[in-house]
Amino acid sequence: MARMATTELPVVVIGAGPVGLAAAAHLLERGLEPLVLEAGDQVGAAIRQWGHVRLFSPWEYDVDAAALRLLEAQGWESPDRDALPTGAELVESYLAPLAATPELAGRIRTGTRVLAVTREGVDKTRTVGRAGRPYVVRAVADGQVTDIPARAVLDASGTWGRSNPLGAAGLPAIGEDRVSAWLAGPLPDVLGADRERFAGKHTLVVGMGHSAANTLLALVQVREEESGTEITWAIRGRSPARLYGGGDADGLPARGLLGSTLRAAVSGGAIRLIREFTIGSLTAPADGDGRVAVAGTGRDGAAVSLQVDAVVAATGFRPDLEMLREVRLDLDPAVEAPARLAPLIDPNSHSCGTVPPHGAALLAHPDENFFVVGTKSYGRAPTFLLATGYEQVRSIAAALAGDTAAAERVELALPATGVCSTALGDREATESAEGAGQGSGRVGFATGSQHGWSGEEPAAGSCCGTAPRPVAASSPSCDG
Ligand SMILES: Cc1cc2nc3c(=O)[nH]c(=O)nc-3n(C[C@H](O)[C@H](O)[C@H](O)COP(=O)(O)OP(=O)(O)OC[C@H]3O[C@@H](n4cnc5c(N)ncnc54)[C@H](O)[C@@H]3O)c2cc1C
Repeated sequence: MARMATTELPVVVIGAGPVGLAAAAHLLERGLEPLVLEAGDQVGAAIRQWGHVRLFSPWEYDVDAAALRLLEAQGWESPDRDALPTGAELVESYLAPLAATPELAGRIRTGTRVLAVTREGVDKTRTVGRAGRPYVVRAVADGQVTDIPARAVLDASGTWGRSNPLGAAGLPAIGEDRVSAWLAGPLPDVLGADRERFAGKHTLVVGMGHSAANTLLALVQVREEESGTEITWAIRGRSPARLYGGGDADGLPARGLLGSTLRAAVSGGAIRLIREFTIGSLTAPADGDGRVAVAGTGRDGAAVSLQVDAVVAATGFRPDLEMLREVRLDLDPAVEAPARLAPLIDPNSHSCGTVPPHGAALLAHPDENFFVVGTKSYGRAPTFLLATGYEQVRSIAAALAGDTAAAERVELALPATGVCSTALGDREATESAEGAGQGSGRVGFATGSQHGWSGEEPAAGSCCGTAPRPVAASSPSCDG
């Protein structure tokens, strides 16, 4: 059988999250044929798992421009551009209708998990004759494995399924693999579907990011309503100051409110905080029923042991690189993001407010026409924003279509106040108050309060760490 010309092959997009679907929309506008492969039964499968969480960026920044053009042609009306959707609303009001447009509907295969990507007929070591070869995307659907040829591949598969382990130094704690029944996932629906798991029980929350804060504040509410509910919060750092924000002095009122609420819950005894905690081992009860034993060390190496009913590992995510083993990638050794992008997003020095928009040039790899996009492109950095991902795929679609000028242009203008921190006064305060209290859609916990992990280090000569300051979303600088 004659081989198809590479240019007649589809551009395979891995993952039907917001960035994968936006990629498909941009590719279509450029006259390229997308084929979106989605592991879940429905589009937005990862976001559906945190559907109860309210985003911190408003609709204005959650909808891609090319996707909007497809939707508007179907009479779609945008939700209030200033409103903050929950994950579930993002899927139901945007991703599901987008996937149902006549242009995209036939180009998305759900229930199709990509196992591996390679170049046709050559393994990774072969250089001679490599350039210009099609890609082969191996996928499984209904138990059947197929190889799908592609002219280019965009990996938009996210990182949701790959939580960082609980153990220190990047490795699972001893026994972690045997206590999965006690691990409640990174963002359980504490006030909704998962409530029974936490009410009247002892929960350990591990982590120092927004997910940890969301879960802790929800648990505090359950504790007020259900006696016997215990909350322990373990952080690896010395101080939770970064997450507390600046309280009344904070430039962003809602961030201050959320931080103050968390701080009050700790100082009032609702949450027991363990600093500098390193988890060494997790041991299931002998009869498989009851509490899991968590052993480790705290401040000054003091032994800490806990008995808990559930553990929430809000420890961040890492990319699945195994499926890309046969692709020649240029990844930063620490961040696991494309090497040229990594310095701009390195969590040692950047918050989401300091990452500049970027496109095809920064995301390129030694194997041409292969890109990791969306939240997976950030590797282990936690600061990805949808608006940045939409700009990535706009630029890549232009590059694949040969429009270098458009690929190089930066078309995204983030507001000076930051998409990540929604410095929107009353609206944010309202949302935050709702999140800290009752109602569906939990806290949209503001980010950008400090520049990455550097914000966790106490300032020289200070007992309490540096004071948080608002940051600019458009500035690549990290001295904010
Ligand atoms: C709780 C939370 C709140 C957030 N809030 C905001 C916010 O307010 N503003 C903002 O800009 N960003 C926010 N983000 C960050 C980011 O925008 C989201 O994570 C967003 O979902 C990333 O989109 P994505 O398309 O890159 O990946 P995902 O939404 O994770 O989509 C990836 C898709 O790929 C599929 N997939 C995975 N592996 C495979 C495979 N092997 N084969 C085929 N398909 C596969 C998954 O099922 C999934 O559907 C938030 C993230 C989280 C977790």
